[in-house]
Amino acid sequence: MTQTIFEKIVARELPADIIYEDADHLAFLNIMPFEKGHTLVIPKKAYKTIFEMPEDEYLELQKVVHRVAKHIKKVLECDMNVLQNNGEVSGQEVLHVHFHIVPRLQNKDVYTSGNDDLYESDEEKHKYGSMLKMDA
Ligand code: 5GP
Repeated sequence: MTQTIFEKIVARELPADIIYEDADHLAFLNIMPFEKGHTLVIPKKAYKTIFEMPEDEYLELQKVVHRVAKHIKKVLECDMNVLQNNGEVSGQEVLHVHFHIVPRLQNKDVYTSGNDDLYESDEEKHKYGSMLKMDA
C-alpha cells in the first residue's frame, strides 16, 4: 500500500515541527496553515478516515485532540476551530485520519485556505513549534 505523507512524518522520513508525541499519536504544525500554530493531530496507525477506526482508538484520539487543543489555547490565548474531513468529496487531501486545530488569532475570514508564507520565516515557524511543545 502507498504510504501517505503523514506515515512518512511518523517514520521521521519527512521533517515536521512536532509538538506532541505518545506511543499512538503525533501532533505537528501544518505546512500550509490557515493561521500561525495550525496543528494536525493524527493516530500513528494509518487509518484513512474515522470510519475505519475502532471506537476505542477513536476515543483515545479525541482525548489527545482535546488535550492538544487546550494546550494551544492556553499558550496562544486564542479562539479555535477544530476540524476534521473524511473522504475526498469532503475535502480530505491526505488520506490518513487527522484533526485540524486552528488557532484564531485575528478576526478574519475563517474560510481562507492554507498559506505557505504565513510565517515570516522558517525560524518563526520553528519558534511556534517550540512554543507549543507539550509533554505526553
Ligand atoms: P485535509 O484537507 O486532508 O483535511 O488536510 C491535510 C492537511 O495536511 C493540509 O492542510 C496540508 O496543508 C497538510 N499537509 C500536507 N502535506 C503536509 C506535509 O508534508 N507536512 C505537513 N506538516 N502538513 C502537510
